[in-house]
Amino acid sequence: MKNIPYGRQNITQEDLNAVTETLLGDFLTQGPKVQEFEQKFAQYVGAKYAVAVTNATAGLHIAVLALNLKAGERVITTPITFAASANCVRYAKGEVWFADIDPDTYILSLDSIRSLLGSKPKGFFKGIIPVDFAGLPVDAEEYRKLADEHGLWIIEDACHAPGGSFTDSQHKEQRCGNGVYADIAVFSFHPVKHIACGEGGMLTTNSKTLYKKLALLRTHGITKENMAEDHGGWFYEMQELGFNYRLTDFQSALGISQLARNDAGVKTRNQIADRYKKAFEGKIKFQALPNGQINAHHLFVIEVNNRKELYDQLRENKIFAQIHYIPVHTLPYYKNIGYKGADLTNAEAYYARCISLPMYPTLTLEEQGYVINKVLAYAK
Ligand SMILES: *Cc1c(COP(=O)(O)O)cnc(C)c1O
Repeated sequence: MKNIPYGRQNITQEDLNAVTETLLGDFLTQGPKVQEFEQKFAQYVGAKYAVAVTNATAGLHIAVLALNLKAGERVITTPITFAASANCVRYAKGEVWFADIDPDTYILSLDSIRSLLGSKPKGFFKGIIPVDFAGLPVDAEEYRKLADEHGLWIIEDACHAPGGSFTDSQHKEQRCGNGVYADIAVFSFHPVKHIACGEGGMLTTNSKTLYKKLALLRTHGITKENMAEDHGGWFYEMQELGFNYRLTDFQSALGISQLARNDAGVKTRNQIADRYKKAFEGKIKFQALPNGQINAHHLFVIEVNNRKELYDQLRENKIFAQIHYIPVHTLPYYKNIGYKGADLTNAEAYYARCISLPMYPTLTLEEQGYVINKVLAYAK
């Protein structure tokens, strides 16, 4: 058996052709492939606008800036996520406050947020950054209700969930990042995620104002639109302090090619998840799936009593399971600035027990069976 990682990209001949063709064309960056990728991605998730960026971390950065986060302002997120979900708040010198997770879905708990909001005067917090953890979509409709009651914005960190969806109270399927409930959603195209661009990210929104702001911040804050005077064709204005967070044309070509296979990839990920669940049912706890939701399954997370022992045993058998995540509030940087927020008992209990099993579309049936056997052998 060869090494089995927890996640892996899948590059096909079609992908190679798409990238090569773009490399030999006129544009390596700022060409037509970027716009095509944005349009196709927006259409895929069902949002009005999409803005391609260098990576999701850069995307999160300009998302908080577009929503006008200022120094000292407070934002709530989950401790069970990649550090970038919280770091974006710090880039704008805001304060990160953590709320607890639900012990079964591992998603930021609405009850925990509600009590945190209730413990402070209105206006104390500015926004919420929920995460579609492991690919399980947050119920963005419920978050929206709560956010509207308290005048908060929502950035949905959908890095794990392109192709995931939940069913809203009108029985309508709502795809992650479709712009209906969250103000902005953020996706990542890092190779372990669903769509690989090497590095890359995408922001989606239904707000034209936010779209324009994001597009401006992505490219130095420079624009040729809305200028006071016409000085000539060369002229541009820098209206804001922006960045160079642009995705290249050849990465976009790869992204377009990968996006076309995402539905098939999500389907295969769910078949693998079903196989794991069938084998583990009644023996090992795995992430719950609320009714009406489609988990895009970036990860497949289980909980076990002696997690380190299983992790080491799997490694000895060339299965490179991973831990998602070390709770963000326990990382030295956040410890040093002083942890703020709710009681995080569920997050800490989860971290003591969680382990992510291999999950990617090219994981063979044989490999799936091998992983299941090794995990069950441990569980006995
Ligand atoms: C991967 C990831 C990010 C960061 O994505 P990059 O594209 O690597 O910057 C942010 N949030 C979550 C939840 C992620 O999994």
